[in-house]
Parts: sequence; C-alpha cells; structure tokens
Amino acid sequence: MAALWYTVGAIAGAGATWRLGWLDRTGAAAAAIVGALILGSTGSAGGVPLAVFFVTSTLLGRLPGRGGGRRHAARSASQVIANGGVAACAAAGIALGGGGGMAAALAGSLAAATADTWATEVGTRYGGRPRRLGFGPQLAPGASGGVSLQGTGAGVAGAACIALAGAAAGLGVGAWPVAIGGTAGLLADSVLGGTLQALYRCPACGGQGDVPRDACGVRGVRVRGWPWLDNDAVNLAATLAGAAAALCVHAFRH
Ligand SMILES: [Zn+2]
Repeated sequence: MAALWYTVGAIAGAGATWRLGWLDRTGAAAAAIVGALILGSTGSAGGVPLAVFFVTSTLLGRLPGRGGGRRHAARSASQVIANGGVAACAAAGIALGGGGGMAAALAGSLAAATADTWATEVGTRYGGRPRRLGFGPQLAPGASGGVSLQGTGAGVAGAACIALAGAAAGLGVGAWPVAIGGTAGLLADSVLGGTLQALYRCPACGGQGDVPRDACGVRGVRVRGWPWLDNDAVNLAATLAGAAAALCVHAFRH
C-alpha cells in the first residue's frame, strides 16, 4: 500500500515540476515514470537521494553568473532519461529482488548524474578556462570534456552528497561505493566529452559546441567524435559507468 502512495507522490511531484517550468511536458512524463519506479520500489530510501539530485541540480542551474549563454530551458524527456534512466532500471531490479547490488547501482547512477551537473554548473561559472581532460589545451567555459579544479571539486562534492543522502535515508548501501561510483561517472563523462562526443564548429563565426546548430543559427560542421554520441548519450553512458562502479565496489566489500 505504501508503494502505491509513493507512486502517486512521484506522479504529483513530476506534475509540480512541470507547473514550475523545470521540466517540459515530455520531461515531466518521463520523470513521473522514473520517480514512480524509484519511489515505488524503494520508498524514501531512494526518493531522498533522487530529490537531492533533482532539487540541487535545478537550483544550481539557476545560479547567477556566467552560463555560457545557455538558457534555463525546461528539461526534456531525453535529458530526464539520460540522467535517470539507469536509476529507473536499477529500481526495477530492486522490485524484482535484486537487493543491495541494485541499490548500489541506483545510488551510483544518481551520484554520477549529480556529479556531472554540479561540476558543469559550478565549473562553468567559477572554473575559469578549463583544460581538455584537465591537462590539454584551454577550452571555453562549459565545453564538453573541459576539466577545471573548481568543477571537479564540486562534482566530487555532489557525488558525496548523494552517497550520504542514500546512507542516511536507509538505502542499505555504504557511502563509499556510491561516492566512488559518482566520481567514476564524472571521469567517464569528461573523457567521453573530450574525445568521442560529437563536436561541431560553426563555419560563420568559428564557435564550437556539442550541437549541430550554433548559437548564431548557422549549421555547424562536425570536427570530431561520433555523430550519434551527443550530450544525452554521454550522460547515459556516465550514469551507467557510475552504476557499474558503485556495484563493483559494493560487491567487493560484501
Ligand atoms: Zn556561429
């Protein structure tokens, strides 16, 4: 019976995020499914870290300051699935009796999503000019694959925050596997973002970015990476890496 109420709560919460303009219509529908799976199978144990991820990510995205010219667009279904799809699958695994390993995977994927978001939002504003993978040439703030000390520090803090939230809420997973998983996901995100993720250059103004259409409206030319590996695909891979790393560390300790 509790699972039913948690599921109803998840759907109501997704509706509220749509009303607030944090998610668009498709994003809210995807969030309702992700939230219902996590809350329905774990209750508050998974709901607390999920809420910590969602609220802190949204609020950090609204901090003033250098945003790389990005708008605070409502998140769409593809972004919700890229960040929460792996966690939803792990929640389904818990419902099917997967136990502690699946709980580690759930929290590890959420920690990876949180680490990436905190690193991006803080690094873009306060990280100066990041270097590609941390040691390569300097990039524009917010560029995929760019690594700064400030952004990395914020990302590790975000992963630790989810790890502690999960432990405090009674998810049944230690904080260390989740924090390590989140940090591994952050690393995977940076490495993919700086190597295999599609990168486009605008022939008109020379601007570079991860989307084919530049801010000035001209269609960019792909200069690096795989055309299908966009930002959402990288986030999905990073959350999967976070889940796998947390699962491995958790299994090693048991
Ligand atoms: Zn341009």
